[in-house]
Amino acid sequence: MNTLHNARVAIVTGASRGIGAAVAQRLAKDGFAVVVNYASSSSEADALAAGIKATGAQAIAVKADVSKTGDVRRMFEITEQQLGKVDVLVNNAGVLKTVPLADTSDALYDQTFDINVRGTFNTLREAAARMNDGGRIVNFSSTTLALNMPGYAVYNATKAAVEAFTHVFAKELRGRNITVNAVAPGPIATSLFLEGKSEEQIQTFAKMPPLQRLGQPDDIASVVAFLAGADAAWVNGQILRANGGLA
Ligand code: NAP
Repeated sequence: MNTLHNARVAIVTGASRGIGAAVAQRLAKDGFAVVVNYASSSSEADALAAGIKATGAQAIAVKADVSKTGDVRRMFEITEQQLGKVDVLVNNAGVLKTVPLADTSDALYDQTFDINVRGTFNTLREAAARMNDGGRIVNFSSTTLALNMPGYAVYNATKAAVEAFTHVFAKELRGRNITVNAVAPGPIATSLFLEGKSEEQIQTFAKMPPLQRLGQPDDIASVVAFLAGADAAWVNGQILRANGGLA
């Protein structure tokens, strides 16, 4: 528990839209004071934080590019000053561009690894030094890692790295009573998934899981809420594949 403030504190990276926005809203509903992190979408992040505050919960929007060490350190400092020490870290920020490996530019490779891997690394390292004991960390992998579809080589490589971080970091935090898990969503109807796909491609993905629909951001927010909450106290170092049974 925070000594300076009442509510437990959660940072959600990449929370200006999509899954992160749903996670921020859900954690606020569950009683957390929430940091709505974003890199560039300030009006969306501000609007989300204002909407959360209108419900009576605490929220602040904090700009920080997770791939930058200094930005991440500042985000933790602002959080501590305004809300208190961090209890929950949700490493949701991520990018996806599907390109065959042979056609992938150096710039796209660097951007994908910088945000998905270095971004997660930066917040984990900061969290190790600054999080409250008894906290929860939820990283983001992807079910695409199990599908091996063409075009996903670099993205899947970044998510494999995040899964590796998850397993090892859970053990490195021995003695702190902090759990480290990851959620690996299947296709979720957000701009990351929908952009650049034809209606036909979207329908093909929607039919893949035996539950025969695309996931919605709230389907993942509820899984994150479970992993961040009291009921998941004994779940540690695991990857939870939330994908309607796709893989
Ligand atoms: P999204 O709708 O594109 O949202 C991505 C969020 O990340 C935005 O809020 C964006 O904010 C933020 N972001 C991007 N780069 C950032 C950076 N450098 N620093 C801080 N924030 C940054 O994506 P989504 O679908 O919700 O995906 C969320 C996570 O789920 C990702 O890790 C993704 O890999 C994973 N995932 C998604 C799916 C899916 O089907 N949607 C499936 C499996 C896994 P700004 O605009 O401000 O940059």
